[in-house]
Amino acid sequence: MARGARRSAWSGAAVAVAVLAAAEIVQGAVDMSLAGSAILALALGGAIGSLIGRPHTVIPVEPDASERHSVAEALLANIPDPVILVDRRAVVIEVNPAARALLPNLKLRHPLSFALRAPEILDGIEEVLRTGQPLKTLYNTRVPTERAFEVQIGALPMPEGPAGGQPNVVLFLRDLTSARRLEAMRVDFVANASHELRTPLASLLGFIETLQGPARNDTAARERFLGIMRMQALRMTRLIDDLLSLSRIELREHVAPTRVEDLAQIVRQMVDTQGPLARNRGVTLVVEATDEPHPILGDRDELLRVVENLVENAVKYGGGGTVTVSLNREDPQNLRKPRFVLAVSDNGPGIAAEHIPRLTERFYRVDVASSRDQGGTGLGLAIVKHIVNRHRGRLIIESVPDEGTTVKALLPEHRSEAAA
Ligand code: ADP
Repeated sequence: MARGARRSAWSGAAVAVAVLAAAEIVQGAVDMSLAGSAILALALGGAIGSLIGRPHTVIPVEPDASERHSVAEALLANIPDPVILVDRRAVVIEVNPAARALLPNLKLRHPLSFALRAPEILDGIEEVLRTGQPLKTLYNTRVPTERAFEVQIGALPMPEGPAGGQPNVVLFLRDLTSARRLEAMRVDFVANASHELRTPLASLLGFIETLQGPARNDTAARERFLGIMRMQALRMTRLIDDLLSLSRIELREHVAPTRVEDLAQIVRQMVDTQGPLARNRGVTLVVEATDEPHPILGDRDELLRVVENLVENAVKYGGGGTVTVSLNREDPQNLRKPRFVLAVSDNGPGIAAEHIPRLTERFYRVDVASSRDQGGTGLGLAIVKHIVNRHRGRLIIESVPDEGTTVKALLPEHRSEAAA
């Protein structure tokens, strides 16, 4: 195809992408990347509208045709979703870089089917040409990774010229992979949370029925059952508290704290609070930190939660003995991005390597029964991770089976303007 005809085809494709994306917005099924694409493409549509005889109002000063084409190309190159233009025989006329990245075998002037073995898409192109109506279909890849795309196919009427006024077809691929993954996570989360609440609730109902029926006049049984019911109710309260804190922390995760807090003071306060509880379980808590202040930009309550959860875990799963909470500088030589290392270590049975990457997932536990016996909800480390993220820090879990576990939170040190 002549360069001039390709130019106007490609520019027309930009308008078509704009129209497809805008239609998607109108239907309400739009994500941010598509919205970004639509805005780019709509701007582009305005810039190049005159090329295919459409009215435009976006750019008041008329650039010449070659400028408009380079704007068109630059903007399409920046659209993160793959866009492919084919003629009525499904031969590739143009592709943007996102399409080349997805389908390395795509070649100009070669049939699309050489690079894309998807009968639904090829049938879709035929149907669009027959009916003139846009349609959507799905395209899944297995290699190198499993990905799912929604493909919008639309006809693109061409002006009379070397191409003979035959319509081309534009394919706009939208990556659904992360949206699907998020949806799966949401479904899992609701299922897990409901399951965690249903168990204590079923036990409460069982005891209430027993107390109303067979054990109505049994004073000793009533006392025992009330004790168990209290434990179950407390378990539900803990779970709901943890779920609420997790959602609160997630909501503000992108807003970094702005108050200066002394991390050493926070550590000491929480260790003092937890000392008696640890002693009751035969555990000695030790703090290793210098007396100097350890300033960070932080949210005091959230940082107290971090120390509390880590110490609680070390006491619960550390198998007795000593739990050490230490505070150091990561690398005293690194003056550019200095960080404090808050580390909580125990000498317990440790955690097998395969579990470590998953410990910060909600409800993930190495041993569900032992976590429940200890009053765990499976949300502690997920909360810790989100708090550390909000503080622009890093969480590292190190464990050697039969030797113990160390959980470290690396948190950026705050330097006042004068000190920096
Ligand atoms: P939980 O409420 O179950 O304690 P967490 O998210 O705090 O939930 O921890 C998740 C799991 O990680 C725990 O159930 C436990 O199996 C494991 N774990 C956490 N800390 C330790 C530790 N110090 N030693 C051994 N296992 C640990």
